[in-house]
Amino acid sequence: MPTPDRYSSEAPAECDVAIVGGGFSGLMSLVRLAQCAPKCQCVVFERRPLAAPGVAYGACDAEHLLNVPAGRMGVFADRPTGFHEWLERTFPGRYRADEFVPRALFGRYLAESVARTLAETKACAAFVRDAVVHVEPLGQRFELLLASGRTVLARGVILAPGLPPARAPWRAVDEGVTRTLLAHDPWDASAVKGLEPDGVAVLVGSGLTSIDLVMSLRRSGWTGRIVLVSRNGRLPLPHAATHGAPVAYDAQELMKGAHAAFRAVRRAVRQLAREGHAWHAAIDGVRPHVQAIWNAWPPSERQLFLRRLRPYWEIHRHRAPAHLLEAIERERSAGSIEVIAGAISSLRMDADGRHAEVVVRSPSGSLRAMRASRVINCSGPTMSVSETLDPLLGALLRMGFASADRLGLGLRADREGRLVGADGAVQPRVRLVGALRRGELWESTAVPELRAQAAVAAESISQELGCGSVDRRAVASASDAAPSGAIGGCA
Ligand SMILES: Cc1cc2nc3c(=O)[nH]c(=O)nc-3n(C[C@H](O)[C@H](O)[C@H](O)COP(=O)(O)OP(=O)(O)OC[C@H]3O[C@@H](n4cnc5c(N)ncnc54)[C@H](O)[C@@H]3O)c2cc1C
Repeated sequence: MPTPDRYSSEAPAECDVAIVGGGFSGLMSLVRLAQCAPKCQCVVFERRPLAAPGVAYGACDAEHLLNVPAGRMGVFADRPTGFHEWLERTFPGRYRADEFVPRALFGRYLAESVARTLAETKACAAFVRDAVVHVEPLGQRFELLLASGRTVLARGVILAPGLPPARAPWRAVDEGVTRTLLAHDPWDASAVKGLEPDGVAVLVGSGLTSIDLVMSLRRSGWTGRIVLVSRNGRLPLPHAATHGAPVAYDAQELMKGAHAAFRAVRRAVRQLAREGHAWHAAIDGVRPHVQAIWNAWPPSERQLFLRRLRPYWEIHRHRAPAHLLEAIERERSAGSIEVIAGAISSLRMDADGRHAEVVVRSPSGSLRAMRASRVINCSGPTMSVSETLDPLLGALLRMGFASADRLGLGLRADREGRLVGADGAVQPRVRLVGALRRGELWESTAVPELRAQAAVAAESISQELGCGSVDRRAVASASDAAPSGAIGGCA
């Protein structure tokens, strides 16, 4: 019953709304369209053959964990506990609401929630396994070119492609290392396969992706050494078992600028420490204001934040389950895992022809060489959309159909997610949902923000297309409790 089972290589020639991307954002756009415009014929295009929707929930192994407790991961805004209720129905008594459960389970729940909504609303949707490589207006419609060479005509388009990957962190220094020693895509199962038992795996990056990869390597039974290399050499910080209510800030102070916000948070952390509380409440207190702060800061302050403060923000904001970090700390003490600050300054084949010689330059300029059985890119998505290798984004930017935001983090869109072209005009009947909106909506990462963006985009595009405006919100929240059904298909 999961959605990906229904993906087909056949694409209908025409549809009302083409949704590019079958991750959380694309599927939640589909769900909202099904609720408010069930007659609207939608087609979801997904290029990756994933086991469940999107990279986070479909490219993981069975043990990769969510970094948000189950009780807050409901797919419907008016029922944030929906995921935990599903867990209780599916695995009674097995998971607590405050627990970090496997991401693959969330993928299953998401796919089932989509299927149930489509069945209940009797909406028409098709799922096509293909990449959209080009979109351009054709009269009152849009022509989508697929990687397979076929074309599809759509009256409207919702772009929900997630973030494109960054270019390989070794591309400027790679001196012809054979590709079997380099893993560009950490989510490809081959990244952790076939390593010699006593070898060294170098992971470029030390964020949540690296933690996932460490866990995958160890679960596969591999006992070699792991070296994490990142600019600051910092791991994410742990979630607290319990912490107080989020700190109440004066939003105006946070909006003054990056340094003012930093000082306010530091003051709050010190105050919490004096009272014997964990720092987490100081970060959580910022979260409700993030959008207002980001909007209030001029580009120079946003740039300052990205350059100087973002690494600190990221490790505090995107935390890891404590038991995973404890496992890594134990290995650090035993010497089987090392985390070093620096960047790869050269990468060449070792004389034996079976290893890569990796040289890392530390922030102080010292060099350290190591012999790696594999170098795995865990550096995450690109921070510069103009550098993208993604064919669709490249095409949209080149023809001026889309334009980069002022900081180049993503694409410009208005409040309803309407894509803005290079001429500054909004593209009628085209919406953007997801992390590519982070230039203007910094927090476009996690489920709560994405489900809200998807709802706005779907409602507004259905109105613009005149697809109807049935309010099916009640159906949405009821669907968490309803028995599962099959996906309604119109292909
Ligand atoms: C490892 C990891 C763990 C995470 N854990 C959590 C968590 O615990 N809680 C939380 O709230 N958030 C988490 N997140 C954030 C997560 O990214 C969001 O929750 C959400 O899944 C993003 O969904 P999306 O649909 O916007 O993007 P994606 O999941 O990236 O989906 C976009 C999809 O579009 C497809 N696509 C792109 N371009 C095209 C094209 N041209 N044609 C066809 N298909 C295309 C891609 O293949 C992809 O499947 C995590 C993210 C990662 C990477």
